[in-house]
Amino acid sequence: MDVDRRVRICDTTLRDGEQGPGVSFTSDEKLAIASALDDCGVHVIEAGIPAMGTVEREALQRIAQAGLAADVVGWCRANRLDVAAAEKCTIRSVHLTIPVSDLHLEQKLGRDRKWAARHIADCVSDALDRGLRVSVGFEDASRADDHFVAELAADLTGMGVERLRWADTVGVMEPFDGYGRLTQLTRAVPGVWEIHAHDDFGLATANSLAAVRAGVSWVSTTVAGLGERAGNAPLEEVVMGLRHLHAVDTGVDSTRFRALALLVARAARRPLPASKAVVGRSVFTHESGIHVDGVLKHAATYEPFDPAEVGARRRLLVGKHSGRASLRYALARHGIAADGEELEALLERVRAMTSEHKRPLRFAEIRDLFQTA
Ligand SMILES: [Zn+2]
Repeated sequence: MDVDRRVRICDTTLRDGEQGPGVSFTSDEKLAIASALDDCGVHVIEAGIPAMGTVEREALQRIAQAGLAADVVGWCRANRLDVAAAEKCTIRSVHLTIPVSDLHLEQKLGRDRKWAARHIADCVSDALDRGLRVSVGFEDASRADDHFVAELAADLTGMGVERLRWADTVGVMEPFDGYGRLTQLTRAVPGVWEIHAHDDFGLATANSLAAVRAGVSWVSTTVAGLGERAGNAPLEEVVMGLRHLHAVDTGVDSTRFRALALLVARAARRPLPASKAVVGRSVFTHESGIHVDGVLKHAATYEPFDPAEVGARRRLLVGKHSGRASLRYALARHGIAADGEELEALLERVRAMTSEHKRPLRFAEIRDLFQTA
C-alpha cells in the first residue's frame, strides 16, 4: 500500500464516547481530555453536541477557545437549529449527520433518499453561508446503498464539504467486504472519507485498518474505545495497528496513550480493563516462566512493541506460573544470589503460596520464603 499517504485521526471521545451508557463528563473533564488529545496530536476533536443545552455549549466554548492545534468540531443533526447552536459556542467547524440507509430513513424518519439528499444539501449550504467548515456524517452507511452514497458524496464535496464520515453505526461492517466497498467509494470520490467503526462484533479496529487500506484518509476513534453499546474503534489500537501492522504513521504521539486512557477511564467512571489492548495494565506484565525467561533474554520474544512507546512499563510478576528465571531475577534485583537447587525449592514454596493467596507475591514474601527455607 502507499505508505506515504497521510492518514488523520478524528477523535470523538467527547461526543460518541460520552454517549456510552452512563457516561457524563464535567466541563473541566472535557477540557482536560481535549487538551490531552491535543497534546497527542490528534487532528480533529469532536468535542460535543451544541444543541444539548447551555452546559454543553459552555464546555464547547472553553475547548474552542483553549488555543488547541486540533480542529474543534461540534456534532450536529442536519438542521439549522443545531448549526445555530454550534455558532453560539464560537465553534468554526460543524459535523452534520444524516441517515443514509433506507432502514433509518424509512423506519426512523418516515422519509426517503430524495428527501435525505435535498435536506442535507440545504443544511450544508446554510452552514457554509455562515462561514463554517463543514463535514458530513453518513449514518448507517454500512447498511446503505453504495450508489446512493457515492452520488451524495460527489454532490456534497462539490459544494465544499471537507470530510465525509462513512459510519458503521451498529458495527456490522465485515473487514473483507468493507474493504471492497470502500475501495470503490474512495475511487469514485477520493480524499474525503472517514471510517467511523463501532465494535459490536469486536471488529472496529480491524474495520478501521481495512478502510485505510481501501483508501480512506481519516479514522474516527475514541480513547480506549469508549462509546455507544460495545464502543468505537480505540484511538490507541488504531494508531498502533496502523504504525506496526500497516507501516502507516498518523503523526499522533503514542507515548501519552496510557496516561490518556487512565484520564478518560477516571472521568467516565469506567475502570480500564487490565487486558485492554495496547494500554491495559496486564499487556506488558509477564508472569509465566517461559515468557519471563524470553523477555529477559530479548523483550521482542513476547512483546509486539516497546511498552515505552505507549507510556507503559514492563512488569515481571512472581506468581503461580513463574519459573526459576523469574525468581533468580527477582532476588538478584535485591542483591541476593541463589543457585539452581535453592531456586527449585523456592519455586515449590512460591507455587504453594500463590495458589493459597490467589495472587502474585510481593518481593518481601519471596525473600521470606527464601530465607526461612
Ligand atoms: Zn458512532
